[in-house]
Amino acid sequence: KMATGEWGGTMNLTEPQCGTDLGLIRTKAVPNGDGSYNITGQKIWISSGEHDFTDNIIHLVLARIEGAPAGIKGISLFVVPKVFVNEDGSLGERNVGAACAGLEHKMGIHGNATCVMAYENAKGWLVGTENKGMAAMFVMMNEARLGTGLQGLSIGTAAYQAAVEFAHDRLQGRSLTGPKSPELPADSIMVHPDVRRMLLEARAFVEGGQAFTLWTALQADLQHSNDEAEAQKARDYMGLITPVLKAYLTDKGFHVASLAMQVHGGSGYTEHFAASQYLRDARITMIYEGANGIQALDLVGRKLPANGGRAIMTWFADIDAFVSENGGETPIKPFVDGLTDAKKKLQEGTMWLMQNGMQNPDNAGAASTDYLHIFGLTALAYMWAQMAKAAQAQVDAGSTDPFYANKLMTGRYFVERILPDTGAHLVKMKTGAEVLMQMPAEAF
Ligand SMILES: Cc1cc2nc3c(=O)[nH]c(=O)nc-3n(C[C@H](O)[C@H](O)[C@H](O)COP(=O)(O)OP(=O)(O)OC[C@H]3O[C@@H](n4cnc5c(N)ncnc54)[C@H](O)[C@@H]3O)c2cc1C
Repeated sequence: KMATGEWGGTMNLTEPQCGTDLGLIRTKAVPNGDGSYNITGQKIWISSGEHDFTDNIIHLVLARIEGAPAGIKGISLFVVPKVFVNEDGSLGERNVGAACAGLEHKMGIHGNATCVMAYENAKGWLVGTENKGMAAMFVMMNEARLGTGLQGLSIGTAAYQAAVEFAHDRLQGRSLTGPKSPELPADSIMVHPDVRRMLLEARAFVEGGQAFTLWTALQADLQHSNDEAEAQKARDYMGLITPVLKAYLTDKGFHVASLAMQVHGGSGYTEHFAASQYLRDARITMIYEGANGIQALDLVGRKLPANGGRAIMTWFADIDAFVSENGGETPIKPFVDGLTDAKKKLQEGTMWLMQNGMQNPDNAGAASTDYLHIFGLTALAYMWAQMAKAAQAQVDAGSTDPFYANKLMTGRYFVERILPDTGAHLVKMKTGAEVLMQMPAEAF
């Protein structure tokens, strides 16, 4: 019933004293002796915590069984239904101990009721094993992180489309090279190079991000391949790519929404168009499902070293193979060269982390966000190189469909005006922790 959308679901991790650091969870679970538990505690910021869109809401709640070890090792996962389910699947009585204690007021995503949830001897059942609640919750969270990356990208996509529509309609000023629509009182803002910069920046991220999500979706399928080597490679990629996709696409989704607002001018900041809503809605994606700074730490601290660095080595090898297959003086050379350079910088950043992060973990923390951005840029460079190859093949075969020509023009913007950012990120990450940590906390 959850899969069909008849019932809703929530995830209850956050409490007033803990968001990122879930080892601080206080919600308690007391066994009733019949396999069920009584759950007591307060959860905050619970998405879709209460509403009447569905007949039932199934809450997944992290709590600490009485006597469990302190910290993250003592957290268990429980299923707590809003309404109990009878043996025959019909709905029974209300689980009166599970209640919404209030709605949060927030800057965006107003279509979602974000709730304070009060559990007072609410009846729940253990999911999985005692004290292994985080591992159980991560089955869902890994998927939710991919969904959040897609959410950031999708809001950016909608914002870009709105900006294009506005730019066609808005007449302001004349082209620097002479009027393009002399019959009108002014040209559309489409003629201005700086407006083009914003639109192409947005479009290059959107199309690159879409390819990246589809490529990742393919890996998600390949995890279930009958060929064990192929399945293992896909699993490695899913682990490595999840924090990159979540953080990079949400950072850029918000950036695109901001560019789209700028294209709208004052009409974007006021509420006449959807631009301001997109900006507000996009912002949360950088925070929930693990703040983006935490994704960067997950990438450098857990995902890179996993299995002796097997996933990142495979990633480099796959890019090298693509480069050697597609090298030479072809029309897509700028894409292949751009990818080669980005991969080199990612490799250099990885080496720097190995050498400097181990000796001082603050170096890894200080470099993590810039490293994640180099990774995101390299991933998009890889996607753009593949898209350019496919588009160029169509052009070479005589296609006059503007889709392919436009794809190549958008990709050229990515390679020439976005990809060079890898250099700045590498320089910044290599400065290490000292510049960040030297100032005493009380001086802020
Ligand atoms: C609209 C909305 C919906 C939400 N929905 C849900 C939900 O359905 N279920 C749920 O359980 N939660 C939900 N949350 C909570 C959300 O997941 C948390 O807000 C998020 O995980 C960050 O936790 P926090 O707010 O406590 O920030 P904090 O953990 O206090 O972090 C504050 C800042 O410090 C940084 N930081 C913290 N620790 C570290 C560290 N060790 N290293 C480096 N930087 C660090 C963070 O990156 C962040 O920038 C929601 C929140 C909002 C606003």
